[in-house]
Amino acid sequence: MTRDPRYDILFEPLKIGPLTAKNRFFQVPHCNGMGSVYPSSMAAMRAMKAEGGWAVICTEETDIHPSSDITPIIEGRLWDDRDIPAFARMTDAVHAHGALAGIEPVHTAARDACLYSREVPMSVTARPTATGYYPTQARAMDKADIRDYRRWHREAALRARAAGFDLIYVYCRAGTSMNGDFLSRVMNRRTDEYGGSLENRARLLREVLEDTHAAVGDTCAVAIRFTVDFAVGPGGETDPEETRDIVEMFAEVPDLWDVNIREWRRDSMPSRFGPEGSQEDLVAFVKGMTSKPVVGVGRFTSPDTMVGQIERGVLDFIGAARPSIADPFLPQKIEQGRIDEIRECIGCNICVSADYTIVPMRCTQNPTIGEEWRKGWHPERLPAKRSEDGILIVGAGPAGIEAARALGERGYGVTLAEAGDALGGRVADECKLPGLAAWGRVRDYRAQQFIRLSNVEVYRASALGADHVREFAMLHVVLATGASWRRDGIGHQHDRAVPGADASNLFTPDDILAGARPTDPVLIYDDDHYYMGGLIAEQLRAEGLDVTLVTPAADVSSWTHATLEHVWIEQRLHEIGVTIIEKHALAGIGPNAKAGIGRDAVEIAHVMSGRSRTLAAASVVLVTSRISNDALYHELTADWDALAAAGITTVTRIGDCLAPSTIAAAIYAGHRYARELDTPPPDGVPFLRELPELGPF
Ligand code: ADP
Ligand code: SF4
Repeated sequence: MTRDPRYDILFEPLKIGPLTAKNRFFQVPHCNGMGSVYPSSMAAMRAMKAEGGWAVICTEETDIHPSSDITPIIEGRLWDDRDIPAFARMTDAVHAHGALAGIEPVHTAARDACLYSREVPMSVTARPTATGYYPTQARAMDKADIRDYRRWHREAALRARAAGFDLIYVYCRAGTSMNGDFLSRVMNRRTDEYGGSLENRARLLREVLEDTHAAVGDTCAVAIRFTVDFAVGPGGETDPEETRDIVEMFAEVPDLWDVNIREWRRDSMPSRFGPEGSQEDLVAFVKGMTSKPVVGVGRFTSPDTMVGQIERGVLDFIGAARPSIADPFLPQKIEQGRIDEIRECIGCNICVSADYTIVPMRCTQNPTIGEEWRKGWHPERLPAKRSEDGILIVGAGPAGIEAARALGERGYGVTLAEAGDALGGRVADECKLPGLAAWGRVRDYRAQQFIRLSNVEVYRASALGADHVREFAMLHVVLATGASWRRDGIGHQHDRAVPGADASNLFTPDDILAGARPTDPVLIYDDDHYYMGGLIAEQLRAEGLDVTLVTPAADVSSWTHATLEHVWIEQRLHEIGVTIIEKHALAGIGPNAKAGIGRDAVEIAHVMSGRSRTLAAASVVLVTSRISNDALYHELTADWDALAAAGITTVTRIGDCLAPSTIAAAIYAGHRYARELDTPPPDGVPFLRELPELGPF
């Protein structure tokens, strides 16, 4: 297949200072939870994107000095020459595929508390450090500190070049970078030549850009990463005029403008709250003010949208973090005319959650991300089958469809049986909830591949019992039968059933998703803390019901802090009039719980004080935890003789059927099964590990 000529423009080479990028696909800096702690994993993950056709591959933010120590968060680190070899591993691997390597050095100023180095943080003016890990403050910098900072940045640029980087960033974002803090009229309260007027506040940024050009600009490109909602006016609002003044002031100074949005929750906008290309209106002005190339992001997965951005003069390079994570081979698939095979990002921000939970990145759509080095997994290549074994997969949720797809790619004969009419399991239902349409891509991508994979047979409306499974007489049986929401209230807060939880006016998310509707006032009890409680509240409120959400957590949908959805969720629930009661557990439901509670009432208790009160609730929706649908597994494995007589040698539970978790975990489980069917991992640690180098002792 060849590419559609409409997309030719995406593959034009483009100059960046002294360099030429081979096309317009640009992987902008993004966190990955590997960086300085798991450097080979990071290098192999970046290399995969180079192999997939991205012209420029950048690191995550990389702290340049112990006074900018971002511990415990895992990002890049370039403190001295000993850090060079880890980055050289990345640049060598990126260059091997004809791509350019970029690095984003940063001094995070007052953002981080320097918990490992125990240096005193410093910034433009004295202020509390921003990260919530420690009650400490940054000191104000004097002139000697400013000279030191410039020297450290220059040394970092030289080390980056020694490590093989082609493109060196100068980072400018208020609140998370030294250059940005100096430029900000809110954070910068200095009275010397680095404070006051815009000219003065911009002095440090100008100096650092000039220092970097002078140090490495003969061979490397110097990029600025600039947040376009940067300048804050006197009323605390974004000040577009000052932002324009800054862009005008520096227009031709860097070799490339990388523009984005200051707040991460807007920059990595969850699909639930913003569409593809949602930054366009904010960033579009930059291109008209500079002759240098501009890169921006917008969860771009559609080549038509990408071409539109370029033809309308919004961007020169198509920047991507998440789309390059979900599909490292996105450029190659467009180039080869394989648009149907693009694994589109769903905008769930599970990748982002790794940064908050301080672990290597994972992705709902791409189970191989982060596993390139430690497990040797390639996102597009699976080993050929090693036998003619047949496999029956029961259940076409995320785990089942990914196992079927990956086994099918390997060449195995697969039978996939699904009880319902639709593929996708929980995804097929959940993507109908408000804002979750893009999550349907989990199903769509895999269903699309089944069309190509003639060795995968899909049976819908086929609820299998133990007899049916045995009749199929496949060597391997995989149970991907999912999980159901509990009706008894057991969850994080409750190890025993909530008293009265057998009431007839009780619902679970499964009931709501299947179309059942409670009478109001409705109380939603969210002890799950991810998206479901908030979404059911939003759905029922949108239908006009009186809704109260009670949660034992300190705030609603509290785990969604990690996916950058939390503020958006809480704002929306407030806007639409859902009553939220935090830090309260459900003590009992209706008169079955305790004498004195009315038929249409519940008792809730404060999680610290235990003080209880009664709330009116004609119905209760329990969003607490899920229970595996594993009855079929137990029935089958209770009679191994019958299985053996049917020629079945293995029966394996995967995904939510084994233990309920995220959609990402189910996809991973399905993929892992397909990889390990005939090549089980070694006994013990099932992946390569990197250990810290021992120092002198
Ligand atoms: P996971 O996230 O682990 O993939 P899901 O709950 O999303 O799990 O999907 C499980 C799927 O399995 C659902 O579509 C359900 O209809 C299907 N299923 C459950 N039991 C059976 C069965 N006995 N036969 C066929 N399909 C089943
Ligand atoms: Fe996209 Fe979700 Fe994967 Fe992140 S985890 S890249 S948001 S699909």
